[in-house]
Amino acid sequence: MEKTARIRSRISNASSIAVLTGAGISADSGVPTFRGQDGLWRNFKAEELATPDAFRRDPGLVWEWYNWRREIIATKNPNAAHHALVKLERHAQSFILITQNVDGLHGKAGSKNITEIHGNIWKTRCTACGDISHNFDVPISILPHCKKCNGLLRPHIVWFGESLDPADIKQSMDALHTCEVLLVIGTSGIVQLAASFISAAKGAGAYVVEINIEETPNSYLVDEVLAGRASDVVPLLVNRD
Ligand code: NAD
Ligand code: ZN
Repeated sequence: MEKTARIRSRISNASSIAVLTGAGISADSGVPTFRGQDGLWRNFKAEELATPDAFRRDPGLVWEWYNWRREIIATKNPNAAHHALVKLERHAQSFILITQNVDGLHGKAGSKNITEIHGNIWKTRCTACGDISHNFDVPISILPHCKKCNGLLRPHIVWFGESLDPADIKQSMDALHTCEVLLVIGTSGIVQLAASFISAAKGAGAYVVEINIEETPNSYLVDEVLAGRASDVVPLLVNRD
C-alpha cells in the first residue's frame, strides 16, 4: 500500500489520536518560524528576547517585539493543515492537540481539545498577582498593567529557561501514553520536549508519524516520515467526507 494511504488507514482506525505541532504548521499561514529567514527583528534573535532576563532588563523592548509579532499574527489565518486537524478531532473518539505554537491559530480554526504548552501570545499574565487575561490589542500599550492590582503584565508565554506548566505536561503525557497514533507536525526537535513526547508515545506502543519539510533529529525515532509542507500533507491524511 502506498505510504500516505497506509498512514491514513492507521489514523482512521485509531480510537485515540494525539498531535504535536510546532512553528512549521503555521509557517504555511505566513507566521515566521524562529529559525526561518523572517524570524529576526531588529537583528535580535528570539533567544535574546524571549527570556526572563531580557524582560527584567528591558520590559519595553520585549513588549515591542511581542507587538511586532502580534501585528504579524493578527493578519494570519489557519491553513489547510489546521483545518484538517479540526476534522480529525471531529471523527476521533479521543483526540488531543498539543501545540508549541503561541499564535492561537488552532483555536481560530476550531480545534477544541488544545494544550498550548508554550502559552498564547493573546494572553497576558500579571507579574504581581498572577492573573491571566486575554488581550487582543494590536499594538498593546507599553507598558501594560494589571486591571486588578496594577502590576506589570508580561506575555503568558513560556520563555527560554522557564519550565512548562506541570499540569500541561501531565495532561500531555497521559495522552501520549494512551494514544494509538501520534502525528508530529512542523516541529524542529531542537526543543528537547518533542523528543521526550515522541519517546513516551513510542514506548507505549503508538504509531508515530512525522511531517516536516526537512529531516529532524526526531526523524529516526518515528515510524514514518512524510516529507512536505504541512498544508499539503496533513489534509491527505484525513478522510474526506
Ligand atoms: P522551529 O522554528 O524551531 O522549527 C520549525 C520546524 O518546522 C522546522 O523543523 C522546519 O523544518 C519545519 N517547517 C517549516 N516550514 C514547514 C512547513 N511548511 N511544513 C512543515 N514543516 C515546516 O519551531 P519549533 O520547533 O516549534 O520551536 C520554536 C519555538 O518557538 C516553539 O516552541 C514556539 O513556542 C515558538 N514559536 C512559535 C511560533 C508560532 O506560534 N507560530 C512561531 C515561531 C516560534
Ligand atoms: Zn495583577
